[in-house]
Amino acid sequence: MASNVASIGGRAYPITDHTFDVVIVGAGGAGLMAALQLPKDTSVAVISKVYPTRSHTGAAQGGVAAALGNQEEDHWKWHMFDTVKGGDYLVDQDAAEVLAREAIEAVYDLEHWGLPFNRTPDGKIDQRRFGGHTRNFGEGPVRRSCYAADRTGHMILQTMFQTAVKNQIRFFNEFLCTDLLVQENRAAGVVAYSIRDGEVHTFSAKAVIFATGGYGRAWRVTSNAMACTGDGMAIAYRRGVPLEDMEFYQFHPTGIYRVGVLLSEAARGEGAYLLNNTGERFMMRYTPTLNELAPRDIVSRSIVTEIREGRGILQTKRDGDDYVYLDVRHLGEAKIREKLPDITDFARNYLRVEPITEPVPIQPTAHYAMGGIPTDVEGRVVIDEHNTPLIGFYAAGEAACVSVHGANRLGTNSLVDLIVFGRRAGKHIARQLQANELDFAELPADAEDHTRAMISRLRAGTGETQDAIREDMRDVMMDLCGVMRTQAGLSQCKEKVAELQDRYSKVRIMDASTNFNTEMMEVIELGYVLDCAEATVAGALAREESRGGHFREDFPTRDDKRFLQHTLAYRADDGGVSELRYKPVVITEFQPKERKY
Ligand SMILES: Cc1cc2nc3c(=O)[nH]c(=O)nc-3n(C[C@H](O)[C@H](O)[C@H](O)COP(=O)(O)OP(=O)(O)OC[C@H]3O[C@@H](n4cnc5c(N)ncnc54)[C@H](O)[C@@H]3O)c2cc1C
Repeated sequence: MASNVASIGGRAYPITDHTFDVVIVGAGGAGLMAALQLPKDTSVAVISKVYPTRSHTGAAQGGVAAALGNQEEDHWKWHMFDTVKGGDYLVDQDAAEVLAREAIEAVYDLEHWGLPFNRTPDGKIDQRRFGGHTRNFGEGPVRRSCYAADRTGHMILQTMFQTAVKNQIRFFNEFLCTDLLVQENRAAGVVAYSIRDGEVHTFSAKAVIFATGGYGRAWRVTSNAMACTGDGMAIAYRRGVPLEDMEFYQFHPTGIYRVGVLLSEAARGEGAYLLNNTGERFMMRYTPTLNELAPRDIVSRSIVTEIREGRGILQTKRDGDDYVYLDVRHLGEAKIREKLPDITDFARNYLRVEPITEPVPIQPTAHYAMGGIPTDVEGRVVIDEHNTPLIGFYAAGEAACVSVHGANRLGTNSLVDLIVFGRRAGKHIARQLQANELDFAELPADAEDHTRAMISRLRAGTGETQDAIREDMRDVMMDLCGVMRTQAGLSQCKEKVAELQDRYSKVRIMDASTNFNTEMMEVIELGYVLDCAEATVAGALAREESRGGHFREDFPTRDDKRFLQHTLAYRADDGGVSELRYKPVVITEFQPKERKY
């Protein structure tokens, strides 16, 4: 479609019904990678609520894992093993194998599109250490993360966006997807709300990919951008697709104190220390092999333990003023400026701390959703424990759960997940289209009704405005569904989230305008993130064990007998989690063992 404005009798009116072979919701790393796989004769639309280069992928700092072996010996099988072990054995091992094997080709794709990676002296892609990535099945750290200073995600996003523009992919920017259309048991398209003018648009498609990212905004302290509100997950969930393993939410150990902005693990990869109030490198006590480079769940718990046991730093003695230090001083100014320029600037800007001469106050920050929309290794969305696909519906990236991260994701394994599984989803659709296996379904005349009804309901709301609902959600999730969890806390959290849902059902919007009504957009997003929070708490309450990012103080050990399985949370038609089902973990090579580092 050449233009989205038509003219009748000299008067311009917007075209709001669109038809494309493939519609991709999300212009981050996963969405763009999928788009770039589709042949030139396929019509492709990429819908994004933010301008593509503002997608959260652009904030990724540390790197993308691939066993290239440019700096020292490495093998994809070691990468696969680390991924499985790092995920506390909840990883589907067939998917982890795909991830580790195909990472190598996918990184070379990025290189060929022109991504400016840091280089070794002989011109190869440089690689650095990252938590949980080891040589020879756990012997010691290995250099596996390919990087571009501490702005790897920015480079990935820019490189792919430029390639997409070159390939003439059609973008619908500042369009908020609000619904997935399902006809005759297959995905038939999406509905989106144009933020610019408040028009509702319908997109009919043979295949739909959700690459809508994560939902870190459910927590008070988070590394995630404002746009990370779990929209795709919630839209699918509202259409009957279960959400998988939502209780596994990762807290990254080193968020800027109180603000949550991330100080990448690249700092520790380059040799930074974590220090408590006595100046002790306390990680040496918890994980003597990997020290600061243990997986994130372990480091975050160790930090919280230090603080709880009185070894955090209490500067102003106000409630909650507890943190530990990230110390890069010993790396020296030259290395800091060369390898960690952005994150040290964050410390200067947000904390007025000079990392070259001072240690930086940090605390764990809500960072990454291991769970999401269940898919198989081709990126096809599956809707039950038997892996029944919903034809024409795909998901990739942080919105999806394939599941390569299991109970805990290793650093640099998300960017590689985006490019490997975004690529596979795109390629699978390309093959299906060529074989005529995917087709349009006729859309009903009332395709937009659901969205229009939602907007009318929000406009008619007479309750409170959104702010207190959002603030309360973020507090309650942080306090009761964070790094450490208990039955009592989670039960309270569940009740509180239900109460917030009730308050949300009456939420009032003050801004009645149609053009750039950001209040409307934020309120719709709040509804999505609340749904994600609800599924997270339900899964966490039912999972009476500790595994990876889910730590239950009342059940501190892993229980493979009862819980070596994935959770599937289904939503009731009138809201709330209706049912939790469980699905077996795929184990191919590595039998579950105790995780020791
Ligand atoms: C600060 C930070 C640093 C990180 N560093 C690393 C790292 O070094 N290495 C690593 O492997 N991982 C890292 N991660 C994780 C990784 O960056 C993310 O998991 C990943 O980028 C997510 O990519 P995505 O393509 O799935 O989604 P995103 O990049 O989040 O993009 C989501 C897209 O969906 C669109 N969208 C969402 N909802 C809607 C809607 N309703 N309608 C229309 N469009 C919508 C958005 O506009 C956006 O284009 C980091 C994450 C953060 C927050």
